Amino acid sequence: MTERFQTLNILPAGRPSGDALMLAFSDNRVLVHRDDPQRCPTWDELRWWLPADAALHVVGVWQAVLVHVVAVAASAVQADDWIWVDLRRLLGQVDDDWFAVAGRGAQILAWADTHRFCGRCGTPTGGHPQGERARVCVSCGLSVYPRINPCVIGLVTRGDDLLLARAHRFTNGMFSTLAGFMEVGETAEATLVREVREEVGVEISDLRYFGSQSWPFPSNLMLGFHARYAGGELRLQDDEIAEADFFHYTRLPLIPPPGSIARALIDQFVQERRTVHG
Ligand SMILES: [Zn+2]
Repeated sequence: MTERFQTLNILPAGRPSGDALMLAFSDNRVLVHRDDPQRCPTWDELRWWLPADAALHVVGVWQAVLVHVVAVAASAVQADDWIWVDLRRLLGQVDDDWFAVAGRGAQILAWADTHRFCGRCGTPTGGHPQGERARVCVSCGLSVYPRINPCVIGLVTRGDDLLLARAHRFTNGMFSTLAGFMEVGETAEATLVREVREEVGVEISDLRYFGSQSWPFPSNLMLGFHARYAGGELRLQDDEIAEADFFHYTRLPLIPPPGSIARALIDQFVQERRTVHG
């Protein structure tokens, strides 16, 4: 993932050491120090609030320190120094590498929570006998590893203009790039062509891969592309898109915050246009 973070193929068993870092989640909120959103409690700072049988999951190693994740009832933590913050609020507030570690923790916890029973025979699952990150059915042997759901996100441009849309769920007036889930059997390029056609009714061409971002809401991989407008009139999918339009790169509406791949796509295009126009 990064030089500062290492995954572990075999997960260590047993309780953490006192200085181990603890990502504590209560639903979508993570426990952080009130003065520093990048600081999470150590095992010695957190363990008083956990029940004896709390299920801990190893996330990996961050700067030579083991990181665990655990679900905690928000009401169990009674301390002025620690506050619950929505994971989304950390985006852009902590460094990108640490956000990825926190997001990984959230996804591991969500996966463990939703795979307590075997999907094939319904028997309760247990840990992997050799310490791999898998839930294993003791009855039929089915092993389930964490899954991610790929999404494609694309910035469609036409000359100096960017096609941006405001989804109904963006109640703060924010406009963003178009995105959608990949369907089974689709290529990433086909997904983007289909999603843009469905959501705003236009055709695109010249897809260029930009990069990817893990997106832990709840467990997605965003594959980012640039694409060119190739034809058609804007025709909005009413149930998803409230507004969409082409915006000149010098007159953008409210756009996503730094730290998101949508913003990175927009920033790169704006930079290219500025270079072109001097
Ligand atoms: Zn089974």
